[in-house]
Amino acid sequence: MEYNPDVHNLQCPKCEHGMVEITHDEIAIDRCTNCQGLWFDTDEAHQLKLRPGSEAVDTGDKSEGWKYDSRANVNCPHCGNLMDLSYDPKQIHIWYEVCDDHGMFMDAGEFTDFKNETLLDWFRGLIKGHRNIVAP
Ligand SMILES: [Zn+2]
Ligand SMILES: [Zn+2]
Repeated sequence: MEYNPDVHNLQCPKCEHGMVEITHDEIAIDRCTNCQGLWFDTDEAHQLKLRPGSEAVDTGDKSEGWKYDSRANVNCPHCGNLMDLSYDPKQIHIWYEVCDDHGMFMDAGEFTDFKNETLLDWFRGLIKGHRNIVAP
């Protein structure tokens, strides 16, 4: 669905369609109506990861998500700043974009993958930081 500020909270930073809020176990995140990418505010991704069944929010087709994976220069949907490309240190095939002030964006299928790793591993990687990595 084309982005319409009256209907959508956010504009997808990758494909520029509208994102709608979805809620799982009282955690609200945003999902793109087109590419099914997911936006997580601040630490929502790791909170949601702990909730049983939360992979249900990741309805997108992974092969569809991959089409968008290679797009460089993704801007934060909140502040418009260029986001850092980062990856999960334990699962280096999972790349996601991070805005230090607002949150992170995952392509369709990535959250499901991400959820298969332990919180501790992910969090260690996050605080060590993997900023300023240039996409291959
Ligand atoms: Zn999108
Ligand atoms: Zn931001």
